[in-house]
Amino acid sequence: MKYSIVAKDDGLTRSIKRKIIENIEGDYDEANPDIVFTVGGDGTVLDAVRKYIHLLEEVKFITINTGNVGFYTEFLPEDVNDIINKRCNMDNIISYPLIEFSVDGKLNYALNEVVFSVTHHLFEGKIKVDGTDLMDVRSDGVIISTPSGSTAYNKSLKGAVVDRGLELIQLIVIAPFETAKGRVISPLILNKNREVIIKPLSNYFDVSFDRNFITYQSVENISVRLSNKKVNFLKNNTQNFPKRLKEKFI
Ligand code: NAD
Repeated sequence: MKYSIVAKDDGLTRSIKRKIIENIEGDYDEANPDIVFTVGGDGTVLDAVRKYIHLLEEVKFITINTGNVGFYTEFLPEDVNDIINKRCNMDNIISYPLIEFSVDGKLNYALNEVVFSVTHHLFEGKIKVDGTDLMDVRSDGVIISTPSGSTAYNKSLKGAVVDRGLELIQLIVIAPFETAKGRVISPLILNKNREVIIKPLSNYFDVSFDRNFITYQSVENISVRLSNKKVNFLKNNTQNFPKRLKEKFI
């Protein structure tokens, strides 16, 4: 087995990282791992997925929570001995789809969401779904989330929380400035085959995706859809979605 570790930088996290390196069977291979351990919270998981986005088909992620929320994380620090001693079924996997978005033909991916916004001004654009001109928006921005990203920024915007296994995307117009001539449908949940096209009218805007952002100027066309690419996480059978919702949010 070839493994790598993506970790936060604090005392507990460092000690878990050391324990893995000293005890796990296999070779540390940062460039070409089969297994990626994440030790931290959701941000660490997002960073690790970004780092290995080109290897997602080959890599399994083993996620250990030393963060605050840890919605993506399957294991706790006390589970590390079981993982090291191979008491986990390595074929027990839960997969989460990514969103793929293309800005004037340049393709990128996100595990939580992609957000199009303009700081200090309205984000203006035309939104098409599968070729139908659906709405013109003037708002703080537009966010499109994956099912697993539904409990992140999407939830703060009163989007629906989505159970695992459903394959869909969710679009929210953030703080729409609606008039009689410009009304919006939001939140909007679309099946996995739909393609959202955004034609931005704002001259410049930010595209934020998970923990990253790029500022663009004079873009003609953005397309967003659910990707066939998935992230594979080793699953902990003592965890499930309702239990996690209750523990983290209620
Ligand atoms: P971060 O990595 O510190 O994450 C912010 C919080 O979101 C953390 O507490 C994290 O545990 C939680 N989180 C992340 N993904 C989650 C998920 N799928 N389900 C439940 N909780 C989740 O912050 P960052 O570096 O700025 O960005 C990472 C994420 O933060 C973004 O992908 C976005 O979803 C979220 N975010 C939320 C808001 C908001 O709620 N108003 C605003 C900006 C960004």
